[in-house]
Amino acid sequence: MKQIKYKMNKQIVLKSRPIGLPTISNFEMREISIPVIEQDEVLLRAKIVSVDPYMRGRMSNAKSYVAPFELEKPITGGVVAEVIESKNSKFKAGDAVLGLFPWQEIFKANGTDLTKVDGSIASLGYYLGILGMPGLTAYFGLLDIGKPKKGETVVVSGAAGAVGIAVCQIAKINGCRVIGIAGDQAKVDLLVNEFGCDIGINYKAEKNIRKAIATACPDGVDVYFDNVGGEISDAVISQINDSARIIICGQISLYNETALPIGPRVQGTLLKRSALMQGFIVNKYAARFPEGINHMSQWIKEGKLTYRETITKGFENLPETFIGLFEGKNLGKALVEIE
Ligand code: NAP
Repeated sequence: MKQIKYKMNKQIVLKSRPIGLPTISNFEMREISIPVIEQDEVLLRAKIVSVDPYMRGRMSNAKSYVAPFELEKPITGGVVAEVIESKNSKFKAGDAVLGLFPWQEIFKANGTDLTKVDGSIASLGYYLGILGMPGLTAYFGLLDIGKPKKGETVVVSGAAGAVGIAVCQIAKINGCRVIGIAGDQAKVDLLVNEFGCDIGINYKAEKNIRKAIATACPDGVDVYFDNVGGEISDAVISQINDSARIIICGQISLYNETALPIGPRVQGTLLKRSALMQGFIVNKYAARFPEGINHMSQWIKEGKLTYRETITKGFENLPETFIGLFEGKNLGKALVEIE
């Protein structure tokens, strides 16, 4: 079958490595030809592209758990795409698939690196959000490391983001008192009214974040789910109880720092409180992803778990939407829909 419908193709490459907050000039959009597929390959059109904070780490040259993006090559990340041509018997035109793909409108893949997803079960964006990497991060980080018990106080930073809104609700499902921290009053209101928080704290409006956390947590903090690091985390950790669990999920407040600030040293507090502090990367739980997806799908069906997406339209808006993560422009999962 010949593809005649698509004549133009675009990709977005990393043009230069950001120093501090990324800018639009770190990216470049290019016109390229449409790939030709071989036996066992499929031609895909991007439908929904995920922007995630971890991508900032890959834009620098530092050694990490994933290799840096290469200059002059497209950014890659989570994408839901539509099969538009197939030479692979497992896929047919019209199938929706999920994978790690380039920021490119039309691209090819072999059949081994993609998973079929069903838009009639959940909206396609959910496979990049609550039923995808961020949701699974919330589920395993909170339940496996945090081990929240009924009646305990759970504090969540970055609470109104893709991971955070899931953490808050899963903590509430587990019978905890939940305090969510976010950087905008409308987000804080939603945390309380829709996402299971007993109290929301707007860290941008609080003059004394430590005092705000102490006031919100009169019985101390049993579980802290840390998405942001920095001063917010220093303040929460100062309030932990004996045998508290601190889950280091992300440190977004530090991702654009060129020199890391030296915060309070937390070891003394951990020692006095016999507390656990543990980092993790969600892929560590890959073998258990079906368990997490089943559990969260069930909670969604039962109306116990709800989710939000902030969808920007237009392939060309990918860099700006990514940069917006560091300015708090998203509520829930930030996605770009390709028209
Ligand atoms: P996200 O929350 O959807 O987007 C980022 C949010 O972080 C923004 O909306 C903003 O909300 C907040 N933020 C930005 N700069 C901040 C700052 N300087 N201080 C405090 N808050 C700031 O992102 P996500 O996908 O849910 O990820 C949340 C964290 O988890 C990130 O650190 C990410 O790297 C990490 N993560 C880790 C894993 C893992 O495997 N360990 C997996 C996924 C994500 P406000 O309006 O509240 O400022």
